[in-house]
Amino acid sequence: MNEYDSNRIAALAEKINYIRTKDIKETDCYVLNTCHIREKATDKVYHDIGRVKKEFRNKKKPIIIIAGCVAQAEGEVLLKKESYIDAVIGPQSYHEINEIIIKSEKKSNKINSTEFNVIKKFDQLNLLKNSNNKISSFLTIQEGCDKFCKFCVVPYTRGPEHSRSLDEILLEAHQLVDRGSKEIILLGQNVNAYHFEKLKLSHLLIELEKIKNLKRIRYTTSHPNDVSTDLIDAHKNCKKLMPLLHLPVQSGSTKILKDMNRGHTIDKYLKIIEELKEKKPTIKFSSDFIIAYPGETEDDFNKTVSLIKKVKFINSYSFIYSSRPGTPASNMRNVDIKTAKERLKIFQNVANNIKKDYRKKLINSVSEVLFENKIKNEDKYFGRDEYFNSVIVSSKKNLTGQIKKIKIKQHNHNTLFGEILSDCQKDKKIKEEYAA
Ligand code: SAM
Ligand code: SF4
Repeated sequence: MNEYDSNRIAALAEKINYIRTKDIKETDCYVLNTCHIREKATDKVYHDIGRVKKEFRNKKKPIIIIAGCVAQAEGEVLLKKESYIDAVIGPQSYHEINEIIIKSEKKSNKINSTEFNVIKKFDQLNLLKNSNNKISSFLTIQEGCDKFCKFCVVPYTRGPEHSRSLDEILLEAHQLVDRGSKEIILLGQNVNAYHFEKLKLSHLLIELEKIKNLKRIRYTTSHPNDVSTDLIDAHKNCKKLMPLLHLPVQSGSTKILKDMNRGHTIDKYLKIIEELKEKKPTIKFSSDFIIAYPGETEDDFNKTVSLIKKVKFINSYSFIYSSRPGTPASNMRNVDIKTAKERLKIFQNVANNIKKDYRKKLINSVSEVLFENKIKNEDKYFGRDEYFNSVIVSSKKNLTGQIKKIKIKQHNHNTLFGEILSDCQKDKKIKEEYAA
């Protein structure tokens, strides 16, 4: 979501003649868009400011704006502690970026813009064409969260749930497809909680499916409690919806889920997985895990390990619980760090072995890959298969934006390497003719 937001911030600033640069040396205005989900976020901000300071030691200082959830949560402190910062701007008020830049150009007072103005934000953003021209593009459809899991800052930093209207979303989707996007990834902190008037995520998927040149749809991140029957049906009926669902579970222990205020049990989670598999037998899953949540016993932890062995998630994103100021869990007693680290290591070992087995089985199978870009200075192309796995193939022809059948030949931890199937067949034919 921060990538989507950063692109929108940059597009807004273009209106007052700022253009994006990759070179820190030529920066007039430096916007640092931040995430507050785990600790050290604020340390990273100070570290990054330090880098800019060093770069501009004997030069005119650029305007420094801290955006995103760290700004929302700790804006006032940042402004007080680091005089180099000109403004802080929360994730629901970045539509004000241009006024803030203009005021900062005039060296006005420090600005703290952290109102929850999500409707106003999208009203402004809707006036701005989404000019992203990536093959795979993000599109935010929902923001904020009303669920208040005890460990999480999102309800405090992104504010309450808000869903954009169907018309707004379709307009932006058409803009993206007209500029060449072939895949749209719908975004939301709880994307499947999407509801606008009587419309739900499943309705939106059906509408997006009708866009002719759009080839693939994905959505992330989902909450198990919002996986409704109509959404499960959409996985069967929407041909453009890819067969991978990222469905964070956090823990394999129902007791811990209760302590986290997740609102579902492991049985319910497994039932959802079964129902989805029944409707869409090719579907696979990935998930998020919090290891060593306060009160997690050895037995609770073992249940998390059993769960990943059972479901065989193709990707498991795991982190040690990180205490966030202001959240209810921050008042609970932490698992000691040595135990937490040991558990994370055990968990990641098991998760990696599951991933390795899955990838091994892909060798010599055929995947459909949507190619996103050429690899710099090489006759190689990067794309993703239906399950969002990174795939690289060699090709002299431009593959960008095309979907090709790829035979997987090799893999490492993060990437699959393959050959275009027609090329494989050609090679085989040549070999056969030669042999004959
Ligand atoms: N809304 C989604 C859900 O409930 O499943 C997840 C969105 S959350 C922004 C992304 C992930 O960050 C969570 O799934 C969780 O694993 C992780 N996370 C959030 N707070 C955390 C904390 N205090 N410590 C460690 N991980 C955390
Ligand atoms: Fe955070 Fe997700 Fe829980 Fe909302 S549902 S509080 S975003 S973890």
